[in-house]
Amino acid sequence: MPATLFSDIEYLKGVGKARGEKYRKLDITNPYGLIYHIPRDYLDFRCHVPVAQAPVGEYSVLKLTVYKKTPPQRIRGGLVICKAAASDGMDDILIVVYNNVYAFHALQEGVTYYMYGKVTGSFLRKEISSPTWLKADEDVLIQPVYRLTQGLSAAMIRTNMKQALDIMRKEPFETLPDDILSRYSLRPLPWALENIHFPASETAAEEARTRLAFDELLKLSLGMALMKTRTRRSTAAALGYQGGIEEFVSGLPFTLTDDQRKAADEIVSDLRRNIPMNRLLQGDVGSGKTAVAAAACFFAARSGAQAALMAPTEILAMQHFRTLSGFLEPFGVKVVLLTGSMTAKKKAALREEIASGEAQVIVGTHAIIQKDVEYKSLALVITDEQHRFGVNQRAALAEKGDSPHRLVMSATPIPRTLALIIYGDLDISVIKQLPLGRKPVKTYAVTGKLRHRAFGFVRDRLDEGRQAYVVCPMIEDSESDLFAVKTYAEEAAKGDLRGYETALLHGRMKAAEKEKVMKQFRDGEIKVLICTTVVEVGVDVPNAAVMVIENAERFGLSQLHQLRGRVGRGEYESTCILITDNTSEDCVKRMKIMSSTTDGFKISEEDLKMRGPGDFFGSAQHGLPPLKIADIACNMELMSRAQKCAGELLTADPDLTQPSHRALRMDVMRLFSKEITG
Ligand code: ADP
Ligand code: MG
Repeated sequence: MPATLFSDIEYLKGVGKARGEKYRKLDITNPYGLIYHIPRDYLDFRCHVPVAQAPVGEYSVLKLTVYKKTPPQRIRGGLVICKAAASDGMDDILIVVYNNVYAFHALQEGVTYYMYGKVTGSFLRKEISSPTWLKADEDVLIQPVYRLTQGLSAAMIRTNMKQALDIMRKEPFETLPDDILSRYSLRPLPWALENIHFPASETAAEEARTRLAFDELLKLSLGMALMKTRTRRSTAAALGYQGGIEEFVSGLPFTLTDDQRKAADEIVSDLRRNIPMNRLLQGDVGSGKTAVAAAACFFAARSGAQAALMAPTEILAMQHFRTLSGFLEPFGVKVVLLTGSMTAKKKAALREEIASGEAQVIVGTHAIIQKDVEYKSLALVITDEQHRFGVNQRAALAEKGDSPHRLVMSATPIPRTLALIIYGDLDISVIKQLPLGRKPVKTYAVTGKLRHRAFGFVRDRLDEGRQAYVVCPMIEDSESDLFAVKTYAEEAAKGDLRGYETALLHGRMKAAEKEKVMKQFRDGEIKVLICTTVVEVGVDVPNAAVMVIENAERFGLSQLHQLRGRVGRGEYESTCILITDNTSEDCVKRMKIMSSTTDGFKISEEDLKMRGPGDFFGSAQHGLPPLKIADIACNMELMSRAQKCAGELLTADPDLTQPSHRALRMDVMRLFSKEITG
């Protein structure tokens, strides 16, 4: 029987048990998987230069005829060097291969090759070291570069790839209907797969990549949209408290901003329906999302139901517990905290309160969605700082109770196109304004030379009664030159911060210790918190008005923005000092952006521009299905097109059940295996 695309990879010629294992290491189990092993780059052998013109110290492609191989030489330390003399017809060059006798043996005297490698030596006597080569009579001059694994060479993959593509040619497949292909000017799938591996030109490679990236983004959009429809079809408890949130709003110590009020109203009207709410509350750091969440909890409690708020860290859970208690207990709403590090006895007691319905609002970490926690009537689940929770966790939550209403809060403002894909399963409310009277945080980027002066400024602010954060990237000293909080705290206590109460805070401390330190900081007993990025999300101490970030080059724009968001949360003018000695273009640009704007949406747009959406998709944080092609190839425009296409497809065929959409539906199911089928 001839091998098919779904036969075991070992059916391919030359692939036995051993090589099959190597392929499985790369998650490739059959020829189909192999053709979706997308090259990460290409080597272009077309533009070769004469030896005389190859710059010393740089990589070049040369066209060389080997004329004399010398036997391998073994030198110190087990290193083996192989050498061969070659010529391009005008000039000679020495080919040097280190530690790869096997490859060297394949090189034949009298044969002409294209060789790609680093040219070294002097103008008069050049060498090309450990080059990649290709016989000059090969017709494919643009060679794919693959992710490899030990024992599986590029040449082996290329040979097997050709076989796999031969199989595909006998059973070509297509997932998109013809009209979509033509309206979106996309290449047919078999053509794209052929050309992603062995492109005839750069344009062909580009078009192939576009088609494949489009497929992925389309499937992602479709999957998210199908998840949305799925929840829409289940029912939720319609909450019916007549009084709405008026009592709560008028009892607040401040007036909600218009955006906060609008978001709260949107949430309440969702909660009144028996269709599960699935809403994202997006708001820049400090925009006051917690108050909106509290309003929602108030409404749930008054309607006789329970609400749960889940935070990504214990620090944040504890803080939310305090804030929500503060907001809600005056109205007689019972708020409890449940975290993983509590004693078994305490947990058991809490579980009882939750099961009896005595606890109305439950705040905690992941602990609150564990199987052993039973709710009496959980109607609303809120997750904070969404970017720490993945899609599948969102799905897991939906399974708790009778499809509860869900609200996710995110402080990562992301451009709309991206949000529509990443949060495609959600409706979105946005808080753009900051509460009245907030002053933008002044931000300065300085080098280490100015550290002492910067701390002079910090001390002045401390003397005025304010508090400060100092953030370092590491916990302990390491071989890198990065600042570590432990040593930093010791030295600062003797030097720049002598006489001021300082304390350490990092992720490896016990929950109780962290809580104690945070409490002391909140109460003003500690003036300076020397911490890692554990303070990145959500921490709210309005009297803290100075933030110093060491090794600022180590942090991405969005992260810096999050960190900076810890200050400027109260009435005081606040300052952020970024310290870095890094002068790379990228770093300088980031520092400039940070110093020039505090607008989270602008920053995220810049971040996206600098890093590309690939980084977003690449990071496991969103819990999206892994993208193979789009993460390197996609751009905003392609994303909008895929988005639009998904919309059109679903309008015409909401469940993708038409015969022409079957292949696509299967692919989407495969990508999201658990989330939409479950
Ligand atoms: P984030 O959106 O970053 O989670 P928080 O909910 O922690 O922001 O709110 C930041 C601070 O602003 C808190 O101290 C909160 O009490 C306060 N706050 C929230 N809304 C308002 C408002 N409308 N007016 C004044 N202060 C507010
Ligand atoms: Mg928050």
